[in-house]
This record gives sequence, structure tokens and C-alpha cells, in this order.
Amino acid sequence: MKKQFAVIGLGRFGGSICKSLSEQGMEVLAIDTNEDKVNEFASIATHAVVADTTEENTLKSLGIRNFDHVVVAIGDNIQSSILTTLMLVEQGVNHITVKAQNDYHEKVLSKIGAHKVVHPERDMGVRIAHNIVSKNVLDYLELSDEYSIVELEAGQTVNHRTLIDLDIRAKYGCNVMAIKRDEEINVSPSADEVLRQGDIIIVIGADKDISRMEKDLF
Ligand code: ADP
Repeated sequence: MKKQFAVIGLGRFGGSICKSLSEQGMEVLAIDTNEDKVNEFASIATHAVVADTTEENTLKSLGIRNFDHVVVAIGDNIQSSILTTLMLVEQGVNHITVKAQNDYHEKVLSKIGAHKVVHPERDMGVRIAHNIVSKNVLDYLELSDEYSIVELEAGQTVNHRTLIDLDIRAKYGCNVMAIKRDEEINVSPSADEVLRQGDIIIVIGADKDISRMEKDLF
């Protein structure tokens, strides 16, 4: 059976989640208080309804607890976002993902039981900053406050050198998880793997160690 999703709030973030889920063939219920937004998504989502999700009875009548995953993408109205999340938790929704506007909002959402809190502006800001600082950093994924995964493009410094020769694990405490070359991906590459300029190297490690390695090798 297809997974059933509900997206509450059809601004830029919620709207983009809704579109992407629909494109992936998922069943999506799109919800917003704004009728124009709902009309815009009527042809994209499986169903689109005008509703205020801060009203408990509205959520009940939508049968919200039967959905596999509910995304709360109410933007500036933090109070509505918190109240909606609280009621989704109370109604026992299995997976609740909520967009936070700031760190305090994020803290409250986690405390009241949101299963996943995302902070897209902040996360994208961090990713772009890494990308701007080093042109070899292609992508960046924060795992926690301390650890990340980065995608680096091999330049001249590492060209024709093996992983053992670069000694990344011992020198920097980072692990090379995979190497992408053209369309091929080598997961858990061996120590004698020879790098070539243009390879994409995916590394996991502590931020401070990754930074040192980026400076020396990329
Ligand atoms: P973004 O920053 O992602 O563009 P917005 O703040 O522009 O976010 O959009 C949030 C959407 O959430 C708006 O379309 C707004 O009408 C909707 N919204 C706000 N409060 C509620 C609510 N209580 N119930 C349902 N939708 C809501």
C-alpha cells in the first residue's frame, strides 16, 4: 500500500515537500488555511483542503492519526506550529516532522515530542558557507553539532596518491566512506586505492578534523 503523507502549510518549504512527495508517487493530503494556496496544490496533491490545524476537531475529522507521516511546515506563526505539533503528538501520529524557524522553536518542538525537527534555512546556510570557503567542498551534511559528512573534489594535491599514503584516518581521524569516479561509486574503498583529480571523495569525521584535512589536502 502507498504511504500516506499530510503536509500542513503550503509556503515555499511545505509546497516543495508536497510537490516532491507527489512526484515520487506518494499519496499526499495538502492542508492550509489559505484558500489560494489550497487551490494551487489541488492539482498536485492527492487531496487538498482548507483547514486550520490548530483546531483539534478539524485534525480529528481529517483522520490525521491514520497518516504514516505528517509534515508541519507552518512558517512564521510559531504558536500555530507548536499547537499543531502538540495535537499531532497527542493524537498519536507515528512520524511527525516539523520545520523550525529558530533555535528556541526547535527546542520546544523536540520537547513536546516532534520526531524530527528540521531547520532548512540554517542547514542550507551552513552547507553554502562550506561550499563558499572551499571550492572543493561540493556538499556538506551535518550529523550532529560535532560530526559531519562532506563531499570533496580531489584536486592536484591528492592526484595519483593512495589512501594509505595520504594516511587520512591516522592523521586526521576521518574516514573515507566512498569514492565516486564518473558514474562508478566505490563504497568502503581499500587503502591502496589510487585517487585521481576530479574524483569525488565522501568523508565522515569531526568538523575540526575535516577542516584540517580540507586545508591540507583539498
Ligand atoms: P515558508 O517560509 O515555508 O514559505 P510561510 O510562512 O510562507 O512558510 O507559509 C506557511 C503556510 O502555513 C502559509 O501558507 C500559511 O497559510 C499556513 N498556515 C499558517 N497557519 C496555519 C494553520 N494553523 N493551519 C494550516 N495552515 C497554516
